[in-house]
Amino acid sequence: MAENADKPSAKGSTKAQENNMNSSLKDTDSKVTSPQNGSTNDSDNENDENSLKIGDTYLIQRHDNTWHNAEIVQTRKNEQDSNKKEYYVHYKGLNRRMDEWVGKEKVNVQQPPQERQKSETGDSLDDSDRKITRNQKRKHDEINHVQKSFAEMDPTTAALEREHEAITKVKYVNRVQIGKYEIDAWYFSPFPDDYGKQAKLWICEYCLKYMRFEKTFRKHLGDCLLKQPSGIEIYRRGSISVYEVNGKDHKLYCQNMCLLAKLFLDHKTLYFDVEPFLFYILTEVDRHGAHLVGFFSKEKESPDGNNVACILILPPFQRKGYGKFLIAFSYELSKLENCVGSPEKPLSDLGKLSYRSYWSWVLLEILRDFKGTLSIRDLSQMTSITQPDIISTLQALNMIKYWKGQHVICVTPKLVEEHLKSAQYKRPRLTVDTSCLRWQAPKKPMLHSRGQKMKK
Ligand SMILES: [Zn+2]
Repeated sequence: MAENADKPSAKGSTKAQENNMNSSLKDTDSKVTSPQNGSTNDSDNENDENSLKIGDTYLIQRHDNTWHNAEIVQTRKNEQDSNKKEYYVHYKGLNRRMDEWVGKEKVNVQQPPQERQKSETGDSLDDSDRKITRNQKRKHDEINHVQKSFAEMDPTTAALEREHEAITKVKYVNRVQIGKYEIDAWYFSPFPDDYGKQAKLWICEYCLKYMRFEKTFRKHLGDCLLKQPSGIEIYRRGSISVYEVNGKDHKLYCQNMCLLAKLFLDHKTLYFDVEPFLFYILTEVDRHGAHLVGFFSKEKESPDGNNVACILILPPFQRKGYGKFLIAFSYELSKLENCVGSPEKPLSDLGKLSYRSYWSWVLLEILRDFKGTLSIRDLSQMTSITQPDIISTLQALNMIKYWKGQHVICVTPKLVEEHLKSAQYKRPRLTVDTSCLRWQAPKKPMLHSRGQKMKK
């Protein structure tokens, strides 16, 4: 039953979805209703004298009712809202994640935009942020997952960022319905053709098929044969369940997962070439089915020794311990494979915090309980965490010294206890019960060594 999501079924829209996946060809068999406004000027001559122009700046009211100068970036007719004309705006001085679609009622067309005392350089902060120090700003940005401004980056990164920004300038899909949750999207995601131009997409939480209309979605819920992710269940404890899905066997499901994930991740480039990856899908099980919570993907063969490529917990489930559960899960798989691994870089700021917290907890627990001496290599073998990750973690905990060309662990029981008592390194809410894990490491060809193979 798990297979049906991946087969191009006879149903028109699924076929259109698949056609659209790999090319930008026009989908010929899906019903295209009114054209979406990819271009800018088609509706401006509908005797709409007050039409707002792309590139112009206006005072615009944000959803928190504050007024900001904002530039019109794009326009569209929202076919999901009686063809209402909408404007995609960038609030000057605010992070691009705040860019949004607004109706004309939010635009002050009478009053010209306010003069700002400070020029709009990349480094400018919003008025309310002016008083905070750089350090406070960095902390705030880390916690809120705000990216750096161009001025804060090195020139190469800034150039790459500008290119990335040009491609992903307009976030058309700004909401998704998945399961019982309606979720705001954070970033652009390249849903194909018509789908990518909708204000909202409806997504089946089981097979991940995405739809443009609520009625299609409601009908699909009745028709869909899946009540859990595609693939094989490899972990179940209480209501928590993890499925392994092979990108080769369930291509469409995995592609759809990547498109969904991109709505919440700024930097992610994998969408269609999913075959070299395995996907581990975390779900919450109830009597209706296994509901999607998050996932991580993993290269089958990672030349860089990565044990996680991409990791995401859907926003309604964030800050409940699921992220650290998946991190722990990825290391349990690496232990069974008898190798060490590290997440693919760059990590998001939130990702960095979660990993640092997981590594610290794991190492502190070992250092507390272990009698005798331990080397960094020992710790790496016990945990499958790479030596560089262990060293950077112990450095942050002030538990390592560099002495005569070597890193030496320096701990006292008191220091370990103090750290373990702090909120930052406390025992995770959800831990992996390895007795519930039914998984065997796949046999690897011996010719290529996988990443950093452990020496026994
Ligand atoms: Zn479905």
